[in-house]
Amino acid sequence: MSFSGKVVLITGASSGIGADAARHLASKGASVSIVGRNEKRLNAVAEEIIKAGHPTPLAIVADVTKDVERIVDETIKKFGKLDVLVNNAGIVAQDNVVDIELSGFDRIFNTNLKSVIMLSKLCVPHLEKTRGNIVNVSSVAGLKCIQNVLSYSMSKAALDQFTKCSALDLAPKHIRVNSINPAAIETPIFQVGDLSKELIDRVRDDCISKYPVKRIGDVSDTSSAIAYLADENAASFLTGILLTIDGGYMLV
Ligand code: NDP
Repeated sequence: MSFSGKVVLITGASSGIGADAARHLASKGASVSIVGRNEKRLNAVAEEIIKAGHPTPLAIVADVTKDVERIVDETIKKFGKLDVLVNNAGIVAQDNVVDIELSGFDRIFNTNLKSVIMLSKLCVPHLEKTRGNIVNVSSVAGLKCIQNVLSYSMSKAALDQFTKCSALDLAPKHIRVNSINPAAIETPIFQVGDLSKELIDRVRDDCISKYPVKRIGDVSDTSSAIAYLADENAASFLTGILLTIDGGYMLV
């Protein structure tokens, strides 16, 4: 699998799944445009890629809820084209039907859903030129009920429908749209979210005991799946797929 000569835009690449996907795709030859709000962490990812001798990335310090036009403009200005969009930036928070607040709901939906819709829309003309594709990073929470993450789960369920509908819309333009739907992956997401430490520990222990493979996921699991779906040869006939990366969790 080679991404030599390809340009990949990855949101939420300053940490976790997005950072590892950026390193992985760059290691396969891609020029990556990486996006995040935390300049220090984003630049650290860019430095790692440069130090490893991979194509020099473009680090865009930006907020996906505010800066979608600038993110696309800077990417096209730097690299001249776009082959793959990875909509990965996301946040999680704890809520349920009893304590949900619309401010929290809006924050989650603005980040996890609305930004994806607007970024995808702006990238369509560029992806049409390259017959490129989009990989959305969803969650098993979009497919299965998990208690106390109501807004997050709804945002990912809506994202899944967006993946399928936009796959249908964009097929005539030769643009594929797929998602990965991971179960728990060891990243900082739970620490920076609003989840209590008690819930984080309970979720991790629950996951390890419930997942048939008796471990939670690693970012290498998500990176290889993102690369597979983004690869024009390996996955050329795949569109509208929601690929669970879950150690068998959806089976139980
Ligand atoms: P991390 O918290 O490690 O990373 C989240 C990334 O999103 C960071 O780079 C963060 O960058 C970025 N981000 C968040 N909000 C914004 C914003 N407004 N603008 C720009 N960037 C933003 O989490 P993960 O790597 O775990 O999560 C990545 C994706 O994977 C999310 O969509 C999440 O829902 C999904 N996922 C994660 C699972 C897990 O168990 N880890 C399981 C299933 C799905 P910065 O702070 O610099 O802005």
